[in-house]
Amino acid sequence: MDRSDIIARFAEVAQDPLAYAAAWKARTGKQVIGSFPMNFPGELAHAADTLPMILQESDEAITVGHGVLFPFYCGYTRSMVDQAASGKFDVLDAIMFGDHCVQLLGAADAIRMKLTDTRVIFFQLISSMCDPWTQGRSEESFGKLRDELEDFIGAKVSDAALHASIRLFNKNRALIRKLYEMRKAGTAAIRAVEMQHVVKSSMIMDKAEHTDLLQELVASYTDAPAADRNVRLHLSGHFCQAPKPELLNMIESCGVTVVGDDLYHGFRYISTDVPETGDPVAGLARWYMDRNTGVPCPTRVQNNVDWEAYLLDAMREEKADGMIVLMAKFCEPHMYYYPEVKEAFEGAGVPHLLIETEHEGMAMEGLKTRVETFVEIVKRREAA
Ligand code: SF4
Repeated sequence: MDRSDIIARFAEVAQDPLAYAAAWKARTGKQVIGSFPMNFPGELAHAADTLPMILQESDEAITVGHGVLFPFYCGYTRSMVDQAASGKFDVLDAIMFGDHCVQLLGAADAIRMKLTDTRVIFFQLISSMCDPWTQGRSEESFGKLRDELEDFIGAKVSDAALHASIRLFNKNRALIRKLYEMRKAGTAAIRAVEMQHVVKSSMIMDKAEHTDLLQELVASYTDAPAADRNVRLHLSGHFCQAPKPELLNMIESCGVTVVGDDLYHGFRYISTDVPETGDPVAGLARWYMDRNTGVPCPTRVQNNVDWEAYLLDAMREEKADGMIVLMAKFCEPHMYYYPEVKEAFEGAGVPHLLIETEHEGMAMEGLKTRVETFVEIVKRREAA
């Protein structure tokens, strides 16, 4: 397949994850396990010979879900409940979720209420990341999750199978990180929406199938694109759900090249590998902790890491001129943390723009004017 065909395939899966899951299930006769973002180790469900897929926000308007969840919950949780209430999750054999915010817990309860025939497995993760007992408690959580999975599939998940899945997932992450490196270095012209298709489809597709296509995609970028004079931009934030493609396209149409991000449907998802040797459950716990040092998350508490310091460092390394923060409306963890980012960026004199996104759609023309103005400010600062 050539480069455009591979990206088109990733885009197709990213746009209709449940159709991919249904086709995979019909083809293989195996079970599909949906999981909530952002801390579920897909390696475990993969080692149990199922398809792990991270459940995605739907583009569809929320209808029946209105009667189940408060309208001031984030678009992701409302869309999850709406999809559950309208029968869209029938393809799933089980749903797994670990708590990471109050709204996610509310959505999980509502889904449990709606999908009475679907196994819903809950695992509690410690959110305090730098205590002496964090590693041990994380191991306990992932150990219990493994027990629940074994109970669900009716078989043991062996260490050997788990190690094999860990190696495959690491390989997949490393290939995507290679794309990030090439984009940053300017040797691969990958648009923000294309990067999202790559990462989002990795959350859904059979990992071996995705990795084979990724290898072809990475190898296809042999030609260095001409250096562009666009404003170099870092995109930040947006947990749980992918920013809408039209928003990413609009931002890049304003004379901007996205050179880095810490989006969940981006670098945050593939930032950290799981150790490939030793006890695999201890390795998953290590991964859980290392991720928060690699790309700090405001849903976790860790005294010795700061998201704002990470962002300023990342931008220096990416030679980014400015940052656009994408914040999903009603996302409490992000709303609580954003003032710290704002203060740090203003203190450091680094320009940034906050855009609040909505499930129900956004007035793109008005947003475009704000982005164009921001780009002008960045250019004038650079010139000065
Ligand atoms: S972290 Fe934010 S986007 Fe994710 S479920 Fe919680 S409120 Fe929604």
